[in-house]
Amino acid sequence: MTSGSELRERFAASLMPTYGVPPVALTLGRGCEVYDADGRQYLDLIAGIAVSSLGHGHPALVKAVAHQTATLAHTSNLFVHEREVELAERLVGLLGGDAKIFFANSGTEANEAALKLVRRAAGPGRHYFVASDKGFHGRTSGALALTGKDAIREPFGPFGMDVRFVPHGDLDALADAVDEHCVAVFTEPTQGEAGVVPAPEGYLAGVRRICDDTGAAFVLDEIQSGIGRTGRWFAHQAEEGVRPDVLTLAKGLGGGLPIGACAGFGRYADAFHKGDHGSTFGGNPVACAAALAVIDTIESENLLAHATVAGEILAEKIDALDHPLLVGQRGSGLWRALELTGPHAAHVQEQAAVRGFLVNAVAPDAVRIAPPLVITPEQLELFTEALPTILDAAEAAATKEQ
Ligand SMILES: *Cc1c(COP(=O)(O)O)cnc(C)c1O
Repeated sequence: MTSGSELRERFAASLMPTYGVPPVALTLGRGCEVYDADGRQYLDLIAGIAVSSLGHGHPALVKAVAHQTATLAHTSNLFVHEREVELAERLVGLLGGDAKIFFANSGTEANEAALKLVRRAAGPGRHYFVASDKGFHGRTSGALALTGKDAIREPFGPFGMDVRFVPHGDLDALADAVDEHCVAVFTEPTQGEAGVVPAPEGYLAGVRRICDDTGAAFVLDEIQSGIGRTGRWFAHQAEEGVRPDVLTLAKGLGGGLPIGACAGFGRYADAFHKGDHGSTFGGNPVACAAALAVIDTIESENLLAHATVAGEILAEKIDALDHPLLVGQRGSGLWRALELTGPHAAHVQEQAAVRGFLVNAVAPDAVRIAPPLVITPEQLELFTEALPTILDAAEAAATKEQ
């Protein structure tokens, strides 16, 4: 087998340097365990960025994808097929009805669809958007224009869109920013790429109220938070009676197969007219079959309750630790961040990998944990037991650097 170091060299020579060269080369996944090109085993606590919700090689996913690939792998949208209709119906059901779905292939595309949808629905006097500082909505031009991370947005402007940013979770700032000329507010319930940073309680209800008062559309990006990650189908369901106008999904929906979805509620369900939007691969039968297998398995294996309980156990174990590098943890369900006292996340990620745990330095001072939803409390405990040693090693590495 090709070694990890050889793969990394060939990667550097043949792929654009957008990601740097990743330190670990993976070859095989089984459940919550993955193996690298040199045969080392890791516990996967990041699941390909909150994507592999059923872990690796789950029989339900394998069977659905294999069967659909063998039966009918692609149709384009010139033809109707059953999996796409079934998946749309399932999602509408989970979202509480009165909605319609557009299928895309990724999160950024789901947000592009949302952006076009709200523009289409807006009256002529509406010309600007409001989004959150440090928010993340994707890398294509429209989604990037709405992304509040200056370092990744600014090199690519101007975008031809008036986007105004407000601090995440600050309802006074939002109320000041949104008036009857605003097309839409784009926000995440908890900011994933900013470091799993939850908004204060009542934030989504406040966004709903501001949008109702001004007629701006409320677009909720649940690309990272949706499909069980927080212990509910959708994170916004934690706040009673709050529903956005448009909701976007991707990541965990396909369990590893690429799929994105944009749901429009009420009058946003029919705001696109024939010919307004499209995608050759969108609603692809294999991706839809995978998503149906994910939803079925979350139901049959009771993974919502499991994510809640396992996530709480994980949080308690982390909170019980006392270490000079660790402030604590934040997040919900199986979507957490270790909050560090300083910019030590890269060292923690590295030292965790050395000890067989894959986590993600999502911010300089935050380490993201987003394991498969099927992870057991025993597996999580392997990590929390190793964590003091990992933090010690990260501290030693940081000291050495100084
Ligand atoms: C990952 C992510 C996106 C972008 O999804 P891609 O599939 O990478 O295009 C958008 N919004 C949020 C909240 C995300 O976490």
